[in-house]
Amino acid sequence: MPGWAAAFIAFVSADLIFGSSLFISLALATANIIGIAVGWYGFKRIRNTDLRLGEPSSVLSFFIICTAASAVCALAGSWTSNLLYGRDLSSSWIVWFTSELVNYVIVLPLFLTPQPRFFPQLIQQFSVVLDRPLRWWLPLFALLASVGLAWFDGGPGAIVFPMPALIWCALSYSVALTAYLICFVALGKLSLAGSQILPFPDLSDFLDANSSIRLGVALFGLVTLVVASLNASKNDKLTQLERVANLDYLTGVLGRSAFLKQGRTQLELCQQSGTSVSVIMLDIDYFKKVNDQYGHAAGDAVLLSFASEMSKQLRTSDAFGRLGGEEFAIIMCGLTASELMAVAERLRCCVERLEITVGDGLSIKVTTSVGLSHSVKANGIKLGELMTEADKALYVAKSGGRNRVAYMPSLPVQPASSQA
Ligand code: GH3
Ligand code: MG
Ligand code: MG
Repeated sequence: MPGWAAAFIAFVSADLIFGSSLFISLALATANIIGIAVGWYGFKRIRNTDLRLGEPSSVLSFFIICTAASAVCALAGSWTSNLLYGRDLSSSWIVWFTSELVNYVIVLPLFLTPQPRFFPQLIQQFSVVLDRPLRWWLPLFALLASVGLAWFDGGPGAIVFPMPALIWCALSYSVALTAYLICFVALGKLSLAGSQILPFPDLSDFLDANSSIRLGVALFGLVTLVVASLNASKNDKLTQLERVANLDYLTGVLGRSAFLKQGRTQLELCQQSGTSVSVIMLDIDYFKKVNDQYGHAAGDAVLLSFASEMSKQLRTSDAFGRLGGEEFAIIMCGLTASELMAVAERLRCCVERLEITVGDGLSIKVTTSVGLSHSVKANGIKLGELMTEADKALYVAKSGGRNRVAYMPSLPVQPASSQA
């Protein structure tokens, strides 16, 4: 309620500042608030995901609500204008309707789409944008050039000059950024029309030139929003598909092939920076017994907790994945042999301490065997070799009694604490 009161006072004050009498200001503010109330009611009834304009169908809902709000606001406004100034109802309705519609379509997306809300976020976003490659800036440059050309050339055709560049922007940027660009272009067009750079004769009795331009600009913004949201939803689905393809369905960590792919990238990074490379292979001990004793669902819960606990222990730069069943692997750069041993021992202890609660408050404890491979220099090493060595070490840890860390004697790791 305070928000509505504040909006009402703001409308009245704005009209008073522009010289209207108190009575007229109150009447016009009432018309505006009625339109906003219709819009508010409409937006309250659609899903939150639609509010963010992430799907083309949500832009359609958005447009229907804006049209309804503008139409009702125009009814109240034109009726007020008719009473106060004796203006013709239908032409007054059209002026009100097109003005409200263009305002809603252009300004509302700035508030509906996800934007950085706080200053530090804004600074961070700004610095990310500044680091973009030249290719990223091209649609924006094209847009600025076409807007400049529209101003320079003028003429009736200038109104659609920025259309191709704006569509290019919609296909390249987020819906939020596109909303800003639509706003920028629309304000430019309205000011072109207002400053008589685009002098249109009133060719139609039904729609005067300004109303026609406002309607055109609103629809122009709408089409661009549809393209941006279509592109956003396509990208969203691609990301989801990529996620499903790359991540293990149960634990959410990398699946085998994605892990090997990231592992090769990681190895290349180690090679470029001339550091060491290490592989840690983990296999849960007697996992079959967990399934047999507590059921497959409990086994799944153990795998999930195990993977999430390991992820917590690792750096974001480490590649961690599930190779299959209850076997996991990690690839790390830049560790010394003794650091690697310490990390492996920490992971082993961490699993040993883990209490996994499954249904009915039942608590399950497991242990893991760990196999290591390590090369002081990553250069000349293949991922396959490192994996094979780590696998052999894992076998040694298993045959040595399990719940232990092992290395292959051929590797240059000679920690005193090893039990293999
Ligand atoms: P070891 O100590 O030698 O590693 O013995 P283990 O019982 O852990 O190893 P084994 O290879 O004999 O058994 C692994 C079991 O893991 C068999 C399989 O049914 C189970 N398993 C594999 N994938 C899943 C899964 O996604 N969920 C569950 N619950 N069990 C799985
Ligand atoms: Mg096992
Ligand atoms: Mg196994």
